[in-house]
Amino acid sequence: MSASPDLVTLRRQIAEIARLCWERGYIGAVDGNVSVRLDDGSLLVTPSGTIKFLLEPDMIVHTDARGVPSGGGRASSEIRMHVVCYEERPDIRAIVHAHPPTAVAFSLAGLDMMQALIPELVVTLGAVPTAPYGTPGTDELARPVRELIRCADAVIMERHGAICVGLDLLDAYKKLEQVEHNARITFMARLLGQAREMSPDEVKRLLATRQDLGIATTNVYCTHCGMPGFAGVRLGTGGEGRGREEK
Ligand SMILES: [Zn+2]
Repeated sequence: MSASPDLVTLRRQIAEIARLCWERGYIGAVDGNVSVRLDDGSLLVTPSGTIKFLLEPDMIVHTDARGVPSGGGRASSEIRMHVVCYEERPDIRAIVHAHPPTAVAFSLAGLDMMQALIPELVVTLGAVPTAPYGTPGTDELARPVRELIRCADAVIMERHGAICVGLDLLDAYKKLEQVEHNARITFMARLLGQAREMSPDEVKRLLATRQDLGIATTNVYCTHCGMPGFAGVRLGTGGEGRGREEK
């Protein structure tokens, strides 16, 4: 990995990404949060309750690895989710959490994003699992996120938002865009009549190209890790929503 950017640069980048989330409509004014893990394991995270388009780099809060502020300021109330993801994924350095409207709407409708629909997404991010609803700020929410983030770089949280992890801030942000863009295309296809799933053979062929393309990101289709929500996922079943894996 190349040398880590300095603290001033990282603070500026966090503020820029938070603002970008607001500009792109992925959050309302105070929603969402962005963090980075530093070389010593401590975190830089957006402060609690700040309007993201007014966020300045010096407002970013420095915390220890458990999310406890080491200086002034109050870290985001959703810091627990970030800590859980960093604990489970030693490979990641940045997290972007937002409330992308189309992806969240899918969860309100009881629809998941586990179908193989768009080749590019199958190859890169893979399926995006949904964590069942949990009271925000509690372990009820953090627990399922912890389990799912082991196998996926992006997780939808039912009735809430998406959490995306990456090797750096842009990598995590890019996945947020992918999630929402995919949700929008799927939504439009459903409006037009149906979103046709790719066949298991087509998916297999796509996954085989990952190595040639040098893509080594976490991908649910490749890493079915034996967890209840994933082990039974069958591609090309034409099923949708919850309960599909029980068939
Ligand atoms: Zn949130």
